[in-house]
Amino acid sequence: MEMSFFFRIAFVLLWVCLGIVRGYYGRKTKTHDSLVGIKEKLNTAMEEEGRSFMILTAVVTAIGGIGLVLYLLAPPWWTWTHLPLGEWAQWLGIVFGIVPLFYLVWVHRHLDTQWSIALELKGNHKLVTSGPYKRVRHPMYLGIFIYTMGLILISSDLLVLVFFAFSIWVNYKRIPREEQMMIDEFGDEYREYQKQTGRLLPRLRESEET
Ligand code: SAH
Repeated sequence: MEMSFFFRIAFVLLWVCLGIVRGYYGRKTKTHDSLVGIKEKLNTAMEEEGRSFMILTAVVTAIGGIGLVLYLLAPPWWTWTHLPLGEWAQWLGIVFGIVPLFYLVWVHRHLDTQWSIALELKGNHKLVTSGPYKRVRHPMYLGIFIYTMGLILISSDLLVLVFFAFSIWVNYKRIPREEQMMIDEFGDEYREYQKQTGRLLPRLRESEET
């Protein structure tokens, strides 16, 4: 089998695997509330992020979407977005793509029904501090970021890089808002939890700032 074909198949399979993990745990969190009001959520996002950000998102998504399709179909006339990283980078991407899938299963098992795609608190929301949350406040984002870097490396494609790097940036940017939401809800309990943990990587020393 030609290598570039192998990596394209691996890219799709890894994407499907993440979809299965998210879908499986997403099923458990579905409430009536989360199924209705998509339009409302979009409006809230628009207000929170601002119009220019939404336009930027639409543009990057469109360019990235086209890039993704071109990468997967690999028409012979489309070569200029290919990044010459070498095959070792693609193999590293496979490792970065597979390992976080197992880690994310562990994360989902602990976050359980407190998980949501949008920033929101469930009725009777519990603060999770166990398992992957014991030393890191955002293990899910950590897992997704590494996995996403894996897909970028596998594709070794400029447009895929732009598309996925943007998604990493968007998610990273929402961490302070998420933490503020948790402080508003849990107060000192969350502040104390912040002192014991790192944002994406475990704290090395108690007093160290992240
Ligand atoms: N940022 C976390 C969770 C992502 S899912 C991570 O990367 O692992 C986003 C939702 O998780 C938020 O809306 C919030 O309600 C919830 N959440 C985040 N941290 C939490 C925690 N320690 N305990 C319980 N719920 C949490």
